[in-house]
Amino acid sequence: MLNKIISESNIQKVKKLIDKSDKIVIVTHISPDGDAIGSSLALYQFFLQIGKSVNVLVPNNFPGFLKWLKGAKEIVVGEWKENLTKDLIGDADLIFCLDFNILKRIEQLGPLIRQASAKKVMIDHHLDPDNFCDVVISHPEVSSTSELIFRFICRMGMFEYIDKNCAECIYMGMMTDTGAFTYNSNSPQIYYIISELLEKEIDKDAIYNKVYNDYSECRIRLQGYVLYEKMKIFKEYKTSLIALSYEEQKRFYGKRGDTEGFVNIPLSIGSIIFSVFIREEENKIKISFRSKGKFPTNQFAAEVFDGGGHLNASGGEFYGTLEEAVTLFEEALPKYADILANC
Ligand code: 5GP
Ligand code: MN
Repeated sequence: MLNKIISESNIQKVKKLIDKSDKIVIVTHISPDGDAIGSSLALYQFFLQIGKSVNVLVPNNFPGFLKWLKGAKEIVVGEWKENLTKDLIGDADLIFCLDFNILKRIEQLGPLIRQASAKKVMIDHHLDPDNFCDVVISHPEVSSTSELIFRFICRMGMFEYIDKNCAECIYMGMMTDTGAFTYNSNSPQIYYIISELLEKEIDKDAIYNKVYNDYSECRIRLQGYVLYEKMKIFKEYKTSLIALSYEEQKRFYGKRGDTEGFVNIPLSIGSIIFSVFIREEENKIKISFRSKGKFPTNQFAAEVFDGGGHLNASGGEFYGTLEEAVTLFEEALPKYADILANC
């Protein structure tokens, strides 16, 4: 049995809002990952099943390994369709904010969502949600927003409206936010939910292959280059760093490369507990942090790069050169020597 994580009053409030609403918009964070797209498309499929008019909005494009999901082609990419985005947000009577806790995480969509007259509902699992929604369903103890979507639909008594497409999206989001159930995944409830999703006839092995075994040749060659030439190990701090310039990514792809997942690889070295990936984008530097065990990457992200996230997976941004970002990181690292030594 599922235990009741979401409060009954929040379920009832959102149920009423859904009943009253015809035009629903679902929005998720910049550079959407598996959980962002999985939770959004799952809720989208559910609303289609119950006959609502619904759109999914994302600030920018999402990776190719998520494009096979049913509904992915209908997602509106904000930076490509500015007018449509404004119209959809302006006309909506209910907006769901999924997998983010602060408006900064949706970049240019932030002011539009803040000003929208629609009622807003947050469903998320990041710490410290900001106060911009009418109903906040925030559960950092749950490993994915996709799991929360499953719980939310079930608690409304509408399990029967989860079809196979919706179930695939939920499974995919749960899988990607737990590294295919290798971290943050000890709750027995996760496996109960998976058994329920399997009853909807999802093929979990096929989903794994579509997400993790569908790389291009360029991507694998870039990975080889990155690990051989670019990975720097700070032995005394049990830390690894990969810094990749825009030019290097272009060399392998002719455009910005697919570097998703690179940050996790150094953690497969036994002695490494903190992995950092600094990537130069066209107009900013993006930093990803991952750790094994207790090391709080979100504290490091917040203190050094004004970022945030979860204990074991977080990120931040930097406006300056790649070299400056690397220097900032290398100067900050020794300050965490004690914490790292005790992890
Ligand atoms: P990723 O490394 O996959 O881009 O991000 C991992 C996690 O870190 C995200 O799910 C999100 O919770 C958090 N995160 C990434 N970038 C930022 C950022 O710039 N600011 C904040 N506050 N959190 C971030
Ligand atoms: Mn998530």
